[in-house]
Amino acid sequence: MKLKLHWKIFIGMALGALLAFVSPAAAMKVAPLGDIFMRLLKMVIVPLIFTSITAGVAGIGDSRNLGRLGGKTFLYYIVTSALAIMVGLALVNIIQPGVGLVVAQEQMINPDDLEQPGSVVDILMRIIPINPVRAAASGDILGVIFFAIFFGFAITRLPTAKAKPVLSFFQSAFEAMMQVTHAVISLAPIGVFGLISRAVVSMGGELFQAVGLYMITIAAGLTIHFLVILPVLFFLLTRRNPLDHYRAMAAVMAMAFSTSSSSATLPLTLDAVEKKAGVSNKISSFVLPMGSTVNMDGTALYECAGVIFIAQALGIDLTFGQQLVVVITALLASIGAAGVPSAGLVMIFIVLEAVGITTPAAYALVGVMLAVDRPLDMFRTVVNVTSDSIGAVVIAHSEGEQLNYPRMGSDS
Ligand code: ASP
Repeated sequence: MKLKLHWKIFIGMALGALLAFVSPAAAMKVAPLGDIFMRLLKMVIVPLIFTSITAGVAGIGDSRNLGRLGGKTFLYYIVTSALAIMVGLALVNIIQPGVGLVVAQEQMINPDDLEQPGSVVDILMRIIPINPVRAAASGDILGVIFFAIFFGFAITRLPTAKAKPVLSFFQSAFEAMMQVTHAVISLAPIGVFGLISRAVVSMGGELFQAVGLYMITIAAGLTIHFLVILPVLFFLLTRRNPLDHYRAMAAVMAMAFSTSSSSATLPLTLDAVEKKAGVSNKISSFVLPMGSTVNMDGTALYECAGVIFIAQALGIDLTFGQQLVVVITALLASIGAAGVPSAGLVMIFIVLEAVGITTPAAYALVGVMLAVDRPLDMFRTVVNVTSDSIGAVVIAHSEGEQLNYPRMGSDS
């Protein structure tokens, strides 16, 4: 019997978790399988993004089309992230997980080990790479995207005879990269087995109890956004059954959960959105790579709720104006966060700074949040990636593309 990929991935995850419970030592022995898989995924990302965006943008044609597509894409990113922030804001004010929080001193973790992000202006400026080759070499995804869009657009301005060879080169290179991607993706069940084993072993600890309510608040917010807001938006904008989309993206979600990285999931997201939802490469290659680092609904929700949680725990009453500042900087922080594990947590410093909460006690709480971050990070990455995939479909639909979900039971 030929099992579908997402079932194989789920089985890999379940076996990984089981092994971690039965024998943590054995689980740590298989963890390198996860590392190998992550290395393979990372190997694919830069060349895949570059060829995909260049070929995609060059195929879009003129600047009017590109401008319209860009406008819609950014509108989608911002509206969905803002909706997520509203959900987080409402829940953290209703549940109030920080009020009366006590964390024992010895449970605190030194936040000095955390790398601090630069300022918002810095982050925005870094989108322009000084050297595109160095940006590619250091995995600076936004820099690569910026250059690829520019380059792809330049191809559209060339006379046909000049444009043709370079366009067909990048189209073929992209096809070849998709072949590499397929090969890597087929190893996903083994990879997630290793990743989940380690994740489960390194979780645990009494801290979970101390900040349980905080975790419940974030998880509840993510669930509402994932199961209510996004499906409703999907239905309103495409008039299709959201279940079709969620079913088609099952493997993508499992992968986002296992890797905690939107960037590492990107190869699979691109593949699934094109093959299973029927979105053209032109649109998916524009919306998805950028979405994997710019559009992070789960992270945006987390930044907002996380900072208000810290304020509650420190007994600081944020005024309406300050909460507004939190909302806006949470949005910026989610845009600036890279699509890698725990990137969102580090960005929380930007939001804290914006409302002037910079005491050592606040930073110590960020340390506590780091200690329990893994499961939340897994979940918010699922939300981030799901929102990207819905964005690609919604925009394809608005451009008149025919969506093409497989009928139940017929996808592989
Ligand atoms: N890990 C998340 C992602 O890659 C970012 C975050 O830490 O919130 O989407």
